[in-house]
Amino acid sequence: MRPANFSYACPTTLAEALLLTARGARPLAGGQTLMAALRQREINPAALVDIRHIGELSAALSWHPDHLAIGALVTHAQLLADARVAQAFPWLTQAARALGDVQVRNRGTTLGNVCWADPRANMLVALLASDAVVLVQGAADAVARRVALDDLITGFRTTNLGGALALSLAIPRRVARGIYREFSRQRQDLALVNLCVVRGEGHARVVFGGLDQRPRRLPQLEALLASRPLHETLTTAEYAALFQEVSLNPPLDAHGSPAWKQQIARELLRRTLTELTEAADHG
Ligand SMILES: Cc1cc2nc3c(=O)[nH]c(=O)nc-3n(C[C@H](O)[C@H](O)[C@H](O)COP(=O)(O)OP(=O)(O)OC[C@H]3O[C@@H](n4cnc5c(N)ncnc54)[C@H](O)[C@@H]3O)c2cc1C
Repeated sequence: MRPANFSYACPTTLAEALLLTARGARPLAGGQTLMAALRQREINPAALVDIRHIGELSAALSWHPDHLAIGALVTHAQLLADARVAQAFPWLTQAARALGDVQVRNRGTTLGNVCWADPRANMLVALLASDAVVLVQGAADAVARRVALDDLITGFRTTNLGGALALSLAIPRRVARGIYREFSRQRQDLALVNLCVVRGEGHARVVFGGLDQRPRRLPQLEALLASRPLHETLTTAEYAALFQEVSLNPPLDAHGSPAWKQQIARELLRRTLTELTEAADHG
């Protein structure tokens, strides 16, 4: 199908872009999701604003003592190629590696993946487990504001960005191990269910994608893991109790039944926690 008619603007300043998005223009970054959605007429914006030539938006990763900042124009390929990311945030590298094909990774941006807010989006799931904070600015804002990624996502492919742009994203640097895993029917497909677990001393995040309208954290499991030494695994009884929490609300769709997706989720969780515990055992 062809997209419905739309106008296209390619501003070079943030102020111009914000005026356009405030009037309803849809930001276009790598176009890897947006163009398909336009062709399917899933969304029909009257105007697109290309954000790739805005001087104030960064295409770089910047390392700060307490956080890593990812600019709005950073692509999955850039993240994947960065050795420091692989060392400090290996779960982000794993999520980027499992995303799409070379072309999609070369053009698609990390922030585009987040802003589309698909409940199974690789980077969104991995970044939620990283406690990411998004720097957001709208036309009415004198300065950019910081919004926790968890608060930005409001439901199935919806955010509370309104007409604002995501300028960058910050991830706190802490000593932690983490794993991103997914189950998909075939390689390069969007995952059916995906999971990211990040665990440090006194800290744990567990985020599932594909089990609800938005990625979900498992707070009970997080609290339990945070209270345990890293090398300690869970008892069978604890697993059984925690799996209740995994029984979220997976959608019934052409890909499979809710019960099957829950079964996949439990197995992903079991394997991931076992692997993290073994890694802690080995130093
Ligand atoms: C063949 C194929 C396979 C794919 N496989 C996967 C996969 O396995 N896993 C996965 O997660 N995704 C997958 N995708 C989806 C896609 O690659 C990602 O979601 C991509 O990262 C989107 O980034 P983009 O820069 O292309 O965003 P765009 O498509 O340009 O935009 C996506 C959305 O974000 C908004 N947006 C973008 N940047 C900003 C910003 N700075 N501020 C505010 N709003 C913004 C846009 O308005 C739009 O709503 C696949 C896509 C294709 C075509």
